[in-house]
Amino acid sequence: MAVKVASEWLNSCSGCEIAILNLGETLLDVLEQIEFVHMPALLDHKYFGQKGEREIHKLEIPKATVGIISGGIRNEEHVEVAEAMRRNCDIIVALGTCATHGGIPALINQFSNAALFDRVYRESETTDPHEDPADPVLPVTLDRSYALDEKIHVDLFLPGCPPHPDWIEEAIRALLEGRAPQLPEKSVCDTCPTIKEGKGKLKKLHRFTRNAHFDANRPVSAMRCLLEQGLPCMGPVTRAGCAGRNGEAPQCIRARVPCQGCYGPVKRDGNQLLDYLNALASNQIDLASIIDRSTLLEFSGAHGLLRSKAVGKQ
Ligand code: SF4
Ligand code: SF4
Ligand code: SF4
Repeated sequence: MAVKVASEWLNSCSGCEIAILNLGETLLDVLEQIEFVHMPALLDHKYFGQKGEREIHKLEIPKATVGIISGGIRNEEHVEVAEAMRRNCDIIVALGTCATHGGIPALINQFSNAALFDRVYRESETTDPHEDPADPVLPVTLDRSYALDEKIHVDLFLPGCPPHPDWIEEAIRALLEGRAPQLPEKSVCDTCPTIKEGKGKLKKLHRFTRNAHFDANRPVSAMRCLLEQGLPCMGPVTRAGCAGRNGEAPQCIRARVPCQGCYGPVKRDGNQLLDYLNALASNQIDLASIIDRSTLLEFSGAHGLLRSKAVGKQ
């Protein structure tokens, strides 16, 4: 009998659901063993009854063995949906860095809700000023953006923005076979073929806006490590995985772009900002050259790591 799978998206962009589809022909193979019983990104399933008349009053998600959730938690509706998934699914998988570490949406945690609503509804150059929309037009906003495990228990974490389809496949197959998935545990640097000449020569880094020169005739393995070129590559403090399992170079490095850290910290509870500053300090690189420090938590600002600096505006 096919294993029932439910999928939900919370504070997310749907890129993680596209990554599931990017399994391609493998998905057809996997679909012989699993059945998606709920997936708002692809299936029209109403939470409160199929007629659109709210014929039931409790949010309803079908029972499933595996629940896959993308996105973090930003409002009360997300909490309700996440809790319903937890009640109805035996195993919860946090899919993507928004779910595992807050992802890009958690950048908002640098600002208070008051500052956010002022900016969006009253100070934007393109919007006529008006009051904050209230529930039910907009679900009640939480004080900040949360990773999934800050609100419900999570059994398996699949970081990545989005996760590489190889690891989604590995997670599904492992769950079907009743074993622990074999997922990358090292850093992006550990999978990077660039030339490392050693530390000590570099004293400062450029800003995050620069890329390396792209020469289509030179393989990435002939390029010097971007960090050693003075580009703030976050490979040392970022979980490997974006290269998939076929041994290619990390995705951004292939494009001669420094890693921005989209798989989150190497260890799940790591702090990319602190780890990066520590790594620079131990290489005698001037920390003052990192001007945009919150960028170091661009993908992992949940769990209270990025905080509002606003005084009196909460
Ligand atoms: S992890 Fe990336 S792809 Fe997935 S929902 Fe978040 S922003 Fe989108
Ligand atoms: S710092 Fe960047 S370029 Fe250098 S080895 Fe690590 S991932 Fe590759
Ligand atoms: S190189 Fe870094 S930012 Fe780019 S895809 Fe890989 S983990 Fe993400």
